[in-house]
Amino acid sequence: MSSPGPLPLPAPNADSAAYWAGAKAGKLLLQRCRDCGATWFMSRHLCASCWSEQVESVEASGRGRVHSFTVIHRAPSAAFAGQVPYVVALIDLAEGPRMLANIVGAGAREIAIGELVRVTFEQRGDGALPQFQRAP
Ligand SMILES: [Zn+2]
Repeated sequence: MSSPGPLPLPAPNADSAAYWAGAKAGKLLLQRCRDCGATWFMSRHLCASCWSEQVESVEASGRGRVHSFTVIHRAPSAAFAGQVPYVVALIDLAEGPRMLANIVGAGAREIAIGELVRVTFEQRGDGALPQFQRAP
């Protein structure tokens, strides 16, 4: 395999700009519908429950529980060659939405389904990626 290249950087668009700005500021932002109260991840310009465009960003607690996970042993591209093995997990956030992220930090590879995790922010480029670590 070729040598590791730079890891991909966040690419904000009109829908996700607030999410990425929040991550850079150390906040995990979800979106909530002002009309029906639905909360979701990932960012989009309207509510999938009632199609309202009255959407606002809300800060999540950063707490969640592992729904499922896998350990990546074979890098999907050269950029990740220096990262393997690493953990990719589906996290059920305390607020309800489910998101995909890496489990990082101490004991990441010993993670278990149902375990509590807490958000942490991985600096990348001039931004940051929400990732999760095992909760103490
Ligand atoms: Zn709605």
